Amino acid sequence: MNWFTRKKQNIEQNTKKDLPSDLWRKCSCEEILYNPELEASFSICHHCNFHFPISSKKYQEIILDGEAEVLFSNISSIDMLAFKANKSYEDILKKVPKNKEAVDCFYGKVNDRNIVLCIMDFKFIGGSMGSAVGEKISKAINFASEKNYPLIILCQSGGARMQEGALSLMQLSKISTHLAKFSQNGGLYISILTYPTTGGVTASFGMQADITIAEPKALIGFAGQRVIKQTTNQDLPDHFQTSEFLKEKGFIDFVVDRKNLKKKISDVLDVLQ
Ligand SMILES: [Zn+2]
Repeated sequence: MNWFTRKKQNIEQNTKKDLPSDLWRKCSCEEILYNPELEASFSICHHCNFHFPISSKKYQEIILDGEAEVLFSNISSIDMLAFKANKSYEDILKKVPKNKEAVDCFYGKVNDRNIVLCIMDFKFIGGSMGSAVGEKISKAINFASEKNYPLIILCQSGGARMQEGALSLMQLSKISTHLAKFSQNGGLYISILTYPTTGGVTASFGMQADITIAEPKALIGFAGQRVIKQTTNQDLPDHFQTSEFLKEKGFIDFVVDRKNLKKKISDVLDVLQ
């Protein structure tokens, strides 16, 4: 095996270094995307139009006119059940930034119109709906109701927060009750469903809006596809649980590209507010 390591004279070895892993990203369509370019184009794949998840800060910049007042940032999760699994909930909460939650609430403007905007953040424990999320959204609904401002909730969530057990599930009915009162008082509620919106969020405020908007190709559903397949013992249709599929079935009013979200919200407010 001498030939295997032998080096010929005057021939340089391949000294190619590995590229930093945060420079490139592979889309599900197999396209390799250059991260700085991707970020400059709203984190949308130029090949298949998949909208990658982005932070609540980025959505704030896309939707709101400028500076906005942050609401209820003093509400954060606590480990009420002393939950322990692979990792204890207490340890998880110790590592998250202070005054941050899986939802950020703002009072701001869209093309000079006052709105209350709640943006979920998947990066925070999968955007899961814990008690603090329920409390922040409920307070935001009440704030919108008092001021008579439209309410927008941008959903990006894996569903209920398992570390809070039944307390997390209670947030579904809590938020739904506040939304029902908001609606009875004539409030306008727009939901925006992004990749992914699943579980308890889809089963409650995600699907309870007057106008439901979704980003293209977003995964939106309650149970996972494998569970549905095993339970029903049937093959699922193409594009099942995507924005486009749900629009076709009448669950969603508009599928809107991220770069056009602000204009669509503004158009809806022009007509309905
Ligand atoms: Zn793609």
